[in-house]
Amino acid sequence: MEEALAPYAAHSDKGRGRRYAETPHASRSQFQRDRDRIIHSTAFRRLEYKTQVFLNHEGDLFRTRLTHSLEVAQIGRSLARNLRLNEDLVEAIALAHDLGHTPFGHVGQDVLNECMKEHGGFEHNLQSLRVVDHLEEQYGAFDGLNLMFETREGILKHCSLNNARLLGDVAQRFIDRTQPSLEAQLTNLADEIAYNSHDIDDGLRSGLITIAQLEEVDFFARLWREVQESFPGLTGRRAVYETLRRLITALADNLIVTSGERILEAAPKSIDDVRQSPPLIRFSDQMRKDATELKRFLYENLYRHYKVNRMRHKASRMVRELYQAFTEEPSLLPPDYRVVPHDATAQARRIADYIAGMTDRYAIREHHRIYSLEEL
Ligand code: MG
Repeated sequence: MEEALAPYAAHSDKGRGRRYAETPHASRSQFQRDRDRIIHSTAFRRLEYKTQVFLNHEGDLFRTRLTHSLEVAQIGRSLARNLRLNEDLVEAIALAHDLGHTPFGHVGQDVLNECMKEHGGFEHNLQSLRVVDHLEEQYGAFDGLNLMFETREGILKHCSLNNARLLGDVAQRFIDRTQPSLEAQLTNLADEIAYNSHDIDDGLRSGLITIAQLEEVDFFARLWREVQESFPGLTGRRAVYETLRRLITALADNLIVTSGERILEAAPKSIDDVRQSPPLIRFSDQMRKDATELKRFLYENLYRHYKVNRMRHKASRMVRELYQAFTEEPSLLPPDYRVVPHDATAQARRIADYIAGMTDRYAIREHHRIYSLEEL
């Protein structure tokens, strides 16, 4: 399969390797192997019960971190195939990109970051890397999943300079201001395509946003009208899905054409050239504007809807109270998470590991077990 890849794609036989050397597998490429390790990890199974936007128990049809990650992988793979990039690497990065998310979506991260400010802070990208590098317990020979450099580089989407200095080679690009592989750049935008479209779907399904409101967003309104012209009188879910399919296609096609042109222009000959070039995977300026308008709409009308705010408020209190209880009384922690002899920074990190690893409902139950005398 890899013979069909462009010279500037990530070729698994030319990868920068694993932290602990392993013999290559006879029937799977290095990145297929990474993808398989991610799918078999504990953190991956937990994604099923972690909030994307809506709390996990609010409805069975809303996206969770798991279905979100699968959609990112699907979109990413078809983009990668079109650009002759490594689909297996894209899939591995997509499936792992949210492994470090706390329960209850972004608010959990924000609270932990605040609680941890004296101890290096908390950031979900970094935590995803920590999960695959250290926290998974699957192998006799090492901690973590021992993934390829390129997969780890893709997982680490953002990183502060301070953290980059601590992380070493995988974060060197944040110091040098260079780019990651095209596969990493692409997965990042596949993530954006996925959430922009599925959050509209979930938002409409929940009733928190309406088609009438969305019609004020140019990009959506154009596609909605197109659907009405093709299928006069079409309403309900079918009309929504017809529009969202077109939305994903428009974004994906635009990304393929624009990136194809940029690659042609920069003419990288290898992944090393890619790393030295400006970002080559991108939308056209007009599409960037359209997508940003849509994002802004979702932010104002969905992510900051008062009903979502209430959920975030409750969730943030819960995460803060869990952190406080464990900090005041580390003996409440399961033994694996206690740091002996006591070291406040190391202990704070283990508390964050424990909380970040929780699913939504586990966090709710754990909060109840600690703060309530009644049985749940
Ligand atoms: Mg994501």
